[in-house]
Amino acid sequence: MAQITCSFCGRNKKDVDLMVSGISAHICNFCIEQAYQILGEEDKTKKSSKRPKFKLRKPKELTEYLDQYVIGQQEAKKVLTVAVYNHYKRLGQKDQVEDEIRIEKSNIIMVGDTGTGKTYLAKTLAKILEVPFCIADATVLTEAGYVGEDVESILTRLLQAADYNVEAAERGIVYIDELDKIARKSDNPSITRDVSGEGVQQALLKLLEGTTVNVPPQGGRKHPDQKMISVNTENILFICGGAFDGISRHIANRLNTQPLGFNKKSEIELVDRNNLLQYVTAQDLKAFGLIPELIGRLPVLTHLDPLDKDTLRKILTAPKNALTKQYVKLLEMENVKLVFEEDGIDFIVEKAVEFNLGARGLRSICEAIITDAMYELPSDDTIKELIIDADYAKSQFDKSKFKKLQVA
Ligand code: ADP
Repeated sequence: MAQITCSFCGRNKKDVDLMVSGISAHICNFCIEQAYQILGEEDKTKKSSKRPKFKLRKPKELTEYLDQYVIGQQEAKKVLTVAVYNHYKRLGQKDQVEDEIRIEKSNIIMVGDTGTGKTYLAKTLAKILEVPFCIADATVLTEAGYVGEDVESILTRLLQAADYNVEAAERGIVYIDELDKIARKSDNPSITRDVSGEGVQQALLKLLEGTTVNVPPQGGRKHPDQKMISVNTENILFICGGAFDGISRHIANRLNTQPLGFNKKSEIELVDRNNLLQYVTAQDLKAFGLIPELIGRLPVLTHLDPLDKDTLRKILTAPKNALTKQYVKLLEMENVKLVFEEDGIDFIVEKAVEFNLGARGLRSICEAIITDAMYELPSDDTIKELIIDADYAKSQFDKSKFKKLQVA
C-alpha cells in the first residue's frame, strides 16, 4: 500500500501528529501551522501598509461634536475647527498633481488659564478625527545634548500612539503643553545659554515647520544601537497651549488701558485677565518671551475663556461623560440611587471657585464629598439611596483636607 506523505514537506504520516487529507493531497500539522503563521504575517504587513484613514468633517460638524464634551470656549472651538479642517484639506490637496497654490500649514497656539480645557479640546478633536494623538510637555524638553529630553522625543510618543504606523503618525496631532514655560528667560540671551528656554524654541522650529527627523522608537538616548525610524513632520498638526501667566500685563500695556476703580492688586489682576486674554496677539507672545520665528510657525492664535460659575456648573452636569453622571453610574452598580440636589451642586461649584482650581478642582471636591459613601455603601445592603444636598456636601467637605487648606 502506498505510503501517505505530506504533499508540502514530504513527511511520512508516521512522523507527524496529524495528517489532513484533501481530494488528491495531504497536509501535515507542521505545514498547517506554518501556513497559518504566513497568513498572520501577511495580514500584519497589509494592515501597516494600508493608507491610514481619517475623517474629514466640516468645522460646524466638528464643533457640534466638541460641544458634547467641552463646555463653552466657543471662540477657541471656532478657530480650532477651522484650522483643523483646513489642515486636513491641505493634506487632501497634496495628493493632487502640481498645484500653484500651496496651502500652508496652520499650527495652532492656545492661550488660557490652566484647567480651562486646552488639552481636553485638542484630545477630543483628535478623537473625532480618528488620528494618532499625543501630549508632550514643553517643560521637560531641553536643547539636544543637555540633561532632559530632546524635542524628537515628542515624535516617539506620537509613533507609539500610532502603533508604529509611520504613515498614520505623519498625519497625527501633537499637543505641546506649557509652551509658556520655554519662554526666553532673560532679555539678554547671550550671557548664559538658555538650554531649556530659547534653546528649545529654536529646536522646535524645524519640527513645527516640517522636516524629516530620525526618531528613536523607544525614546531616550540610552539605547545607542536602536534602529531609528524616520518621520516627516510636514503634515503633523502641532497644537500648543499655555497659561502664559502675566501676559495680560503685556496686553494691557499694548492696549494702553489702565484698570481703574479697583483697590486690591488681586482684583486688578483678576479683572484684567478676564477682560484681556481675548485680545491676545502675536505681539504679546513676543513680549512674553517667545521668539518671533516660533510665533511665525504657529500662525493660528486663540484664547480660552476663564471658567465662571455657570460654566463650571455645566461642566459638572452637562457633558456626555459629566462627573455627576459618572458617580451616578458608579453607585448604580451597587444598586444605590445617587441624587445630586441643586444646592449640593451649587456647593461644589462655589468651592471650586473659592479654591481657584478650575474644572480640575471639581473632581477633587467631588471625591472629598463622596469617598466616605463609596467606602461604606458596597458593604451595606440596607442603603438604597444617597442624596447629595448642600448639608451633606458641606459636612463631608468640612471633614476633608480641603477644610484644612481653607483654615491655613
Ligand atoms: P488645560 O487647559 O490646563 O489643558 P485640561 O484640558 O487638562 O486643562 O482640563 C482639565 C480637565 O477639566 C479636563 O480633563 C476636563 O475634564 C475638564 N474641563 C476643563 N475645561 C472644560 C470645559 N470647557 N468643558 C468640559 N470639561 C472641561
